[in-house]
Amino acid sequence: MTYKLVCPHCGKSLRIRTSVGQHIFLRTAYLQCCNEACGATFRAQFEITHEMSPSGMPNPGVRLPLAPAALRRDAMRSPDETQLDLLEA
Ligand SMILES: [Zn+2]
Repeated sequence: MTYKLVCPHCGKSLRIRTSVGQHIFLRTAYLQCCNEACGATFRAQFEITHEMSPSGMPNPGVRLPLAPAALRRDAMRSPDETQLDLLEA
């Protein structure tokens, strides 16, 4: 899957310069706007919050809540129906 991070200032795409794993569910990323006229840089965090469907090779150390039905419904929607400001599918 590919996704696009969007600069909140100018709406152009952001690229990930570096990212650092905080723990198995959390990663901090440093982002830079690809629009040279804008040039904004950001810090972002990507967090795995829920399990949408179980793993076929589960790690016993991983304890994540199963996504409630409402979250799983949201994931089934097409990208145009969701309001994603930062992360565009
Ligand atoms: Zn920008």
